Amino acid sequence: MHQKSLTELRAALDMKQISAFELAQHFLKRIEAERELNAFIDVNPQLTLDTARAADQRLARGDQTPLLGLPVAHKDVFVTRGWKSSAGSRMLADYISPFDATVVERLAVAGMVTLGKTNMDEFAMGSSNENSFFGPVRNPWDRNAVPGGSSGGSAAAVAAALTPIATGSDTGGSIRQPASMTGVTGIKPTYGCVSRYGMIAFASSLDQGGAMARSAADCALVLGAMSGFDPRDSTSMQRDAEDYTYLLGKPWKYTHTLSDRSLSGLRIGLPREYFGSGLSSDVWTAINITLQQYEELGATLVEVSLPKTELSIPVYYVIAPAEAASNMSRFDGVRYGYRSAKYCDLLDMYKKTCSEGFGAEVKRRILIGTYVLSHGYYDAYYLQAQKIRRIIAQDFQDAFTQCDMIMGPVSPGVAWNLGEKVDDPLQMYLADIYTLSTNLAGLPGMSIPCGFGTGIYAARPVGLQIIGNYFNEARMLQVADAFQRVTTWHRKVPAGV
Ligand code: GLN
Repeated sequence: MHQKSLTELRAALDMKQISAFELAQHFLKRIEAERELNAFIDVNPQLTLDTARAADQRLARGDQTPLLGLPVAHKDVFVTRGWKSSAGSRMLADYISPFDATVVERLAVAGMVTLGKTNMDEFAMGSSNENSFFGPVRNPWDRNAVPGGSSGGSAAAVAAALTPIATGSDTGGSIRQPASMTGVTGIKPTYGCVSRYGMIAFASSLDQGGAMARSAADCALVLGAMSGFDPRDSTSMQRDAEDYTYLLGKPWKYTHTLSDRSLSGLRIGLPREYFGSGLSSDVWTAINITLQQYEELGATLVEVSLPKTELSIPVYYVIAPAEAASNMSRFDGVRYGYRSAKYCDLLDMYKKTCSEGFGAEVKRRILIGTYVLSHGYYDAYYLQAQKIRRIIAQDFQDAFTQCDMIMGPVSPGVAWNLGEKVDDPLQMYLADIYTLSTNLAGLPGMSIPCGFGTGIYAARPVGLQIIGNYFNEARMLQVADAFQRVTTWHRKVPAGV
């Protein structure tokens, strides 16, 4: 049951092979049995089962809402009324929100049953899920490996079939990179598609919610319910809600039959800078085989250039900490969350609260962010970074004059070992090279499973990145789905699942 897609689970519910209650119970049992993965921060079985019972009642009344009764797990960055909302931080370890994030609310209205909150890097800062106050998450494919980050809990939960789908957030790769490292499908839509209301802020001009699931088709189904204009988020796009499933299973260009070469006419751009010396050979091989399969599906490959790719790391690691430093200032021990138990005056309370409440990576970013925004350094760092950010966005637009989609690796290598990079933040940052510029430009990006590493890494998944132009999510999902219809990478599960 747990390996089924959302569409299959929908059919099972509709044919009364299983109730929403039994389905929720089944996944809760799996979550309990897999505690070693540390994928969940908070579960509340009573609340989950009550919601499932309510879904069953709606089903019995003939309610045909497409997502009704299907389980979902939420990254702990989304605030929830019934579960803790910690963002992986000691600062919010016991925080319970008085309201639901828009994403959570919309999926609840659609009838989805929340299974719990998934582990993550503290305030979504990290690439390995080792920065969580609640401890690292293990990769279900190889328990000595990281699951990627910061949505490592959501990725591991989907990969280990503890939930059919989970929400995530992506500021510089946090949906795509863990999806890639755990062999699941993840999509980060165009900035402004998914409301940030109730999504605990890291870097507000980059943060974007999205979905992680077993297939592109499942992502499409849920993304439609999550996204759309929200007046409570000032950067939410004023666009009508979109059905992201309408192109699935259709040829790229309209013809009457779905031919074998269903993507004929699709031009795939391969950025020269994404296939350079930093890319490991096993990832390179898996991506190349995948690109050949896309050619067999009728697509043509064209070389494009994103000349400022290398600069995306310094640019991102100036802008993101600057915004983070500003966002973190609300955690002062006064309004909500952690407050130090012992202090002598107000200033001392601030100091002790922040020293004890934040982990090392968050402190590092507050320091960097404050530095680059300070008088005298603002022009040299922050302003300069913003200018290059604009060029990076323009470079993508130039590339899109030659192609319809951009493809490449998500990460330079497969998942690394737990502990391998924790003492070397720079190495950790460098691993984000292929994902950051998408966020800097506000573009949508996906990761789909497309192979495995080699040798001792033969059990560690590789993901293919698909980048589309603004609001091209339905097209990207079509392109991902066309591949998943003729391959089985997305159906593979770790041993024992
Ligand atoms: N790894 C990046 C960082 O640490 C991206 C994180 C994210 O997308 N939330 O900032």
